[in-house]
Amino acid sequence: MFNHPDSNYSIVLEGQYNWAIVLLSLMIACLGSYVAISLNKRVRMNSFFHRDVWLFFASIAMGIGIWAMHFIGMSAYHLPIPMKYNHIITILSIFPAVGASFIAFHLVNRLKQSLRNNIMASILMGLGIVLMHYLGMYSMLIDAQIVYQIEIFIFSIIIAVAVSFFALYAISAFNKKFEHRGFKILVSLMLASAVSMMHYVGMFGTTFYVSDGYHNIDSEMGQAGKALLIAMVAVSVSVLLLLLMVSIYLDRYIDYRIRFFDTQTNLPNGRYYEKEIQKNNNQLVLAVWQINSLKDVNYAYSYNDGDKLVNYIANTLKAVHLPNTMLYRMEEDRFAYLMYRTDRLPLLERKMQEIARIWDDARYQGKPFYLKASCAVVSVEQSKKVKYLYNDAQTVFNHPSTLFQQEVAVYQPSFHRYSFEKKILADLDQAMEKNELFLVYQPKIHSDLERIAGMEALVRWNHPEHGFLSPATFIPIIEKTERITDLTDWVIENACKQLSDWQQQIGADWTIAINIPGDYVSSTRLVKKLKKMQDKYQIEPRSIELELTETRFVQSIEEANHSIAKFRSLGFSVALDDFGTGLSSLSYLKKMEISTLKMDKSFVDHVPHSPKDSAILKAMIDLGQSLGLEIVIEGIETEDQVTYLRQVASSLLFQGFHFAKPMKAAELLEWSKKHYLH
Ligand code: C2E
Ligand code: MG
Ligand code: MG
Repeated sequence: MFNHPDSNYSIVLEGQYNWAIVLLSLMIACLGSYVAISLNKRVRMNSFFHRDVWLFFASIAMGIGIWAMHFIGMSAYHLPIPMKYNHIITILSIFPAVGASFIAFHLVNRLKQSLRNNIMASILMGLGIVLMHYLGMYSMLIDAQIVYQIEIFIFSIIIAVAVSFFALYAISAFNKKFEHRGFKILVSLMLASAVSMMHYVGMFGTTFYVSDGYHNIDSEMGQAGKALLIAMVAVSVSVLLLLLMVSIYLDRYIDYRIRFFDTQTNLPNGRYYEKEIQKNNNQLVLAVWQINSLKDVNYAYSYNDGDKLVNYIANTLKAVHLPNTMLYRMEEDRFAYLMYRTDRLPLLERKMQEIARIWDDARYQGKPFYLKASCAVVSVEQSKKVKYLYNDAQTVFNHPSTLFQQEVAVYQPSFHRYSFEKKILADLDQAMEKNELFLVYQPKIHSDLERIAGMEALVRWNHPEHGFLSPATFIPIIEKTERITDLTDWVIENACKQLSDWQQQIGADWTIAINIPGDYVSSTRLVKKLKKMQDKYQIEPRSIELELTETRFVQSIEEANHSIAKFRSLGFSVALDDFGTGLSSLSYLKKMEISTLKMDKSFVDHVPHSPKDSAILKAMIDLGQSLGLEIVIEGIETEDQVTYLRQVASSLLFQGFHFAKPMKAAELLEWSKKHYLH
């Protein structure tokens, strides 16, 4: 092989390259490498198929690349003698290429990477390329003797190993970069050059000798050669493209399966559900099962046992026949039937009851097993919007009436209210700490229209999830619990601080009105808090007005009166808020030591156009003033109302959007300067 041939073989054949076919061979090598690298990328990903399947495909692609490159390269080389191939060896020569690629890719894809691994892989890859090449040469049936120049032979091996090393190192070390097509192409070019450089350097060191008397020299290549070339190109390109397409298709399919299906039960998942409900179907009914036992089994036994339970549940649910319905595994422990017809809600509910009965007899590992589960049935007719369906089902699970004793509950809007209330209460501390709560101030104007008498402090909540919340939304929720005292203390502190700032900044002689909710009125804690704030911020008690609502007095007039008397003795003003809206009796007024009466907005709404309303309002103002009370008219919205009120009485206080809406402190200061009202 390396020695000079027999002495009578002295004629050296001059081969010639067809450069177009050389280029074709290089392209095939690149295509093979590119496909191999694309498939190899999947080896390290989580996938439906075992990683060896991807390894196998990748090495087939690489093997074909090496093999086709060689034979197309050989077709580019014109020898002036007839040239044929031994078909069996030709075919067999692909195996070293595929085998070496398989092991090399296997090594570089190992989780624990080492230089030793990389070197081993490149030696194997290089040798695979070399072996394929020389087997290919061996398969040639020609009348010439082939001699390889040993130095160039060795050099070709070194090139194959060295260039493979760089390509394989890139594959093992920069796994993430393969997301970029540019990088993939670069590494494919490296791998392709390992193959082609080995081939062409090897050929450079190859000499073909024919015997002295040889006469069959013809410079034209035979037809058989061309046909072989075409067949080779067609087959290898088709196989490579097919592999590439398979990889792209599987890529997409697998991505799709992973995104939209649960791998354990093969059921569509929550993402699929979201996609499905976006199809704008307004006839949907949803039944969600929450299985609380799953966590228990996972903790008490093992995840393996948990999986068995999930399979049991999924199989029970799958076995239920429901027309126009799809079953989902929405979350770990939640399954849901989505039905496309609202009129079938009773059927769905009935079927869910049947499932509950099946689970009554549930057995786990041969023993009776009490399955803690609940089902929530929701119809789009109640949820209003399809996107709320699943949320509404969740509120059922959060409600205290849901006991996870296999009950089936149909969603009611009151469930939602409950969970909203829970959230509001849970978020209150954070709201106070993070300044999500803040105060706005609405001015009260003297009826001479020349002075601001004071402000009412009104609380607002910029909730991170629900956006701006009106106090009318959250105060009644908090009022039902003890937490209202914390909130009121927070308001008192912030309002006093603000008043003291204003007094220092502009010497304002304003009063600040603070709303005090029902039960807190008679608490000693409130008195303590007020005194403390008054000292801390150096505020005179007459500058603080406590606004109480009638409801409180109606509940217990004696107790309320006692508290009011206490506040008054300490110097605070006390206003009766929203006067006229509760079950008030005018006779209470004379018993109570309040200082101010705030007429509810409803009294002023139709004034002055309604003569009756105007007469009532006038009578009330007269009554209040005759009892020596300060009168505030709330909710003034028009110039007409102001004109009328200024005619019927003097020394009133006005509050309403006609003058100003509640504003933040800085805004209010600007407003007051602009209107010269302080
Ligand atoms: P309220 O104490 O009777 O407060 C007056 C309400 O009427 C305020 O609503 C105010 O913005 C609104 N208002 C004032 N002028 C007009 C007007 O011309 N037209 C109309 N349509 N409305 C006007 P807001 O701030 O939404 O407060 C509603 C209720 O929430 C208050 O009624 C009060 O009972 C309660 N609230 C507000 N802040 C607090 C607070 O800090 N603590 C407590 N406990 N309750 C508060
Ligand atoms: Mg008020
Ligand atoms: Mg009011």
